[in-house]
Amino acid sequence: MATVSSATLVGVDGHPVSVEVHASNGLPGFRVVGLPDASCRESRDRVRAAILSSGLSWPQRRVTVNLAPSGLRKAGSGLDLAMALGVLAADGQLFAGALDGSAFIGELGLDGSLRRVPGILPLAAAVGEPFIVVPPACAREACLVRHATVRTAISLKALVEVLRGGRGWPELPPPDGAFEEPRLADLAEVRGQAFGRQALEVAAAGGHHLLMVGPAGSGKTMLATRLPGLLPALSPDEALEVAKVHSAAGIELANGSLSLRPPFRSPHHSASAVSLIGGGGARIRPGEVSCAHRGVLFLDELAEFPAPVLDNLRQPLEEGRVVVCRASAAVAFPARFMLVAAMNACRCGADGSPGSCRCVESSRARYVSRISGPLLDRFDLRVRVSRPDVEDLLSPKAGGVVPTASEPSAVVAARVAAARRAATERGVRSNAELASWSLDELAPLSPGGWRLLERRLREGQLSARGLDRVRRVALTVSDLAGRKGPLSPEDVLLALALRAPGALGVEGAAGAPDRMSALGVAGR
Ligand SMILES: [Zn+2]
Repeated sequence: MATVSSATLVGVDGHPVSVEVHASNGLPGFRVVGLPDASCRESRDRVRAAILSSGLSWPQRRVTVNLAPSGLRKAGSGLDLAMALGVLAADGQLFAGALDGSAFIGELGLDGSLRRVPGILPLAAAVGEPFIVVPPACAREACLVRHATVRTAISLKALVEVLRGGRGWPELPPPDGAFEEPRLADLAEVRGQAFGRQALEVAAAGGHHLLMVGPAGSGKTMLATRLPGLLPALSPDEALEVAKVHSAAGIELANGSLSLRPPFRSPHHSASAVSLIGGGGARIRPGEVSCAHRGVLFLDELAEFPAPVLDNLRQPLEEGRVVVCRASAAVAFPARFMLVAAMNACRCGADGSPGSCRCVESSRARYVSRISGPLLDRFDLRVRVSRPDVEDLLSPKAGGVVPTASEPSAVVAARVAAARRAATERGVRSNAELASWSLDELAPLSPGGWRLLERRLREGQLSARGLDRVRRVALTVSDLAGRKGPLSPEDVLLALALRAPGALGVEGAAGAPDRMSALGVAGR
């Protein structure tokens, strides 16, 4: 009997697993028990082939592998290596003491090579042993775990030689020193778009969800992709949290090191519900909403996403996590992201421009109604973005005109950082996270500000939930301006403008009254 330490992945968390191997006399056979899933049961074939092709012998005995704890479902191929070593130790081909103090994680190829497995970061973090042996391709990532020394070997054969004392541990692959994170797109490259830029800044400062509506080619995508350059860097703890999710999703960490950049994910509208939310067959993996955790989820062409796919966003937007249920298990993934979406105001994308748009009013309303009221209501900021005028692009100067200079991202990011600090003093990461009950204390309104909101409420242009959202945005506006004290009418006016009634351009169009109020459209 031999016991080898390893780990398995559940959601984005690793759990330690003890691989117990028992070899007894009797009819030769190989059994794996202890709740392995289908992909894990396939390990039997890989382990047998890897041992044979490594020039080692397969025991002519009855081999039983138990994966403990038995209540935990084991998925994936990461237990291959531990099983193979357990078989060799139980058969006496390897001194069992050589395995003590180490955990082994890795998939075996039929030729005995060690192959990378997804989620090495959470897996390595889960084991308690002072040494971890992983495939070379995972070594750098495993090194992010500070509590253990990482070792590697290219194949089962090479590893057995080291464990038998025949040779020393090979060097870890060196980090790619020349690697630099790609340069972020800068706001200075966006000409004109004063209002769009302002909305982007408020969104970044307050963590507010942002919807941009406008004709094709108006620069919505260009603005959205500038967002990562405005957001504050992740803390080391957040970066590790993000890296674990990406590791579990099988995304290779650049240079095997932690990135302090907030993630920016932009799934295509043809993305399936599984790739967006998470799930999958053999192994439940995190989806795009989780890969965007602590960062930005950008949905371009929002109206082109199928409604059932968008419905799945409700849980992560409300709870900051998503629960994926399968017959075998329910797994929760973190999913606290900033939602940024862009859409055209009509099917043809010309947005009512005379001469080019052929959409009739009813078809425009139908196009917009593809976004459900509850989802629309989640956007704190809903702005129209139009194509910039020539006047926006050029500035008069002595001797002619020059391209207009735009404020660079670094300047805007400094204001955003100051606003985020103000939010931190309130005990939240950003104003969007403020609880409704705390608004009276943390975001008091001046009498003038109240009067503005009261009028909108009486006119039916603002719902109770909308009221809270406007107050949070007004607080962010005030923070960006460096103001303290009750929210002024100016703060409230800008917040209302940023949650524009009729941002979708369907004033007075057909639609149920409750839907129109959710749209923030003055339909009465
Ligand atoms: Zn049109």
